[in-house]
Amino acid sequence: MATLTRPATPRAAAARPRRTVPVGLRSRRDAAVRLAAVVSLWSGLLLVTWWWTAAGGVQELGGWASGLTSAGRLTGLWSSLLLLVQVLLMARVPVLERAFGQDELARVHRLVGFTSFTLMVAHIGLITWGYAAGSLAATPGTLWDLTVTYPGMLLAAAGTVCLVLVVVTSVKAARRRLRYESWHLLHLYAYLGVGLALPHQLWTGTELVSSPGRTVFWWSLWGAAAGAVVVWRVLLPLVRTLRLGLRVEDVVREAPGIVSVHVAGPGLARLRVEAGQFLTWRFLGRDGWTRANPYSLSAAPDGRRLRITVQDVGDGSGSLATLRRGSRVAVEGPYGRLSARARTTRRVALIGAGVGIAPLRALAEGLDYAPGEAALLYRFTDQPLFRAELDELARTRGLQVVPLAGRRRHPDSWLGELLPEGAERYRDVDVVRGWVPDLLDRDVFVCGPAAWAERLRDDLLRAGLPPERLHDETFGW
Ligand SMILES: Cc1cc2nc3c(=O)[nH]c(=O)nc-3n(C[C@H](O)[C@H](O)[C@H](O)COP(=O)(O)OP(=O)(O)OC[C@H]3O[C@@H](n4cnc5c(N)ncnc54)[C@H](O)[C@@H]3O)c2cc1C
Repeated sequence: MATLTRPATPRAAAARPRRTVPVGLRSRRDAAVRLAAVVSLWSGLLLVTWWWTAAGGVQELGGWASGLTSAGRLTGLWSSLLLLVQVLLMARVPVLERAFGQDELARVHRLVGFTSFTLMVAHIGLITWGYAAGSLAATPGTLWDLTVTYPGMLLAAAGTVCLVLVVVTSVKAARRRLRYESWHLLHLYAYLGVGLALPHQLWTGTELVSSPGRTVFWWSLWGAAAGAVVVWRVLLPLVRTLRLGLRVEDVVREAPGIVSVHVAGPGLARLRVEAGQFLTWRFLGRDGWTRANPYSLSAAPDGRRLRITVQDVGDGSGSLATLRRGSRVAVEGPYGRLSARARTTRRVALIGAGVGIAPLRALAEGLDYAPGEAALLYRFTDQPLFRAELDELARTRGLQVVPLAGRRRHPDSWLGELLPEGAERYRDVDVVRGWVPDLLDRDVFVCGPAAWAERLRDDLLRAGLPPERLHDETFGW
């Protein structure tokens, strides 16, 4: 069993010098990728709409039954396209991961997911109604006939059931009642749902085969979505894990219920990972190894070892305290853009709460800044993490450290109660601007529990921080 008592060592001096990229360059490239992604999505939607129009879709709207069928066909095309975009969005495609970051991808994924599902329901309803010659009373019988007689339709019906399951369990009220793993496992049924829909498009619809352009478009999209999942969600993590050869080197107790896990491996020097990023971790050779949990690096990577710092909030995180030295580690990633690549300017403010300080601690070490250019505001209730390391960074790098201690000062606040006298008269943002006057001109990196981060995010944006300067990541609870 690993020792849990060794004090954390300041690692500021261990950071490997990195090739410096001009501040803002990667952020501009990412903005261009985001724009290209949005343009591609809308172009795809326009293209399938144009094909639908060219096939007489608009004229068919003139008749009642033909109009219903035609509208059903269009909603089906939009829904299929968005379903495949969904798969691509969550396939961990590096260029998308870097440009959007996981939080933003998850937000877009949710929006696109609910939209494609609504369109799919509209597709089923409208097309069946149209096939029932526009008679609502005949629609249920027609739905049954279509399902059992048309090729591929039984599979499509099974696919629809899978997608309904995924969407129902993703509605916030239901999501809150489920354990994360159960929800995640159910979510994987979405792949099955999308896969089962393909045969009915091939055999019943004519869209995939009615012209070479359409065939190339749809098959390329299907191929890209399936290929992306196989390459980036399955093969790459497998190959990377084998090449890195990571093993647990040490487990260090940082505070009650919080441990740091140090891992090292011979292939680590080749891993392109930055301070502030996170990986998804599996600690092998023990119960629960099949479940992967995301944890951010809490120290800047130095090419030899990685460190994560984890709070015990459940079975997976709690079990890390008893990890054995030498245990093998499988990882996916690195992911996330809470890193130097999001930076648009030299001056930064890092604002974290609780264990959310972990990636900001790594950023405070890994970012390039001169004394006075970086401030770290740390919200904690009882005991700060990394006190010695932050003091060291303040001393050696000129990091401005502002502790925001104590309980919340009021229910809507994201600050602690231990603030300068008279602070209660001011908004949270204005109190902070007392310490960091140019806060709204800096890049602000935020990390912490979801509700706290949302409050802070709203407050900063309302106070006038440009959205492109706000970079946030939440830990999901
Ligand atoms: C990008 C990211 C970075 C994170 N970095 C850190 C970190 O550096 N240190 C730290 O202590 N915690 C971090 N977390 C939170 C950490 O992943 C969860 O606390 C942990 O996975 C909980 O798992 P569990 O089995 O102990 O608890 P459970 O009881 O299974 O879950 C407790 C809560 O944690 C969340 N959660 C569980 N599993 C996952 C998962 N695979 N992905 C996303 N959320 C999950 C859910 O909201 C759940 O309600 C991070 C989360 C994310 C999304």
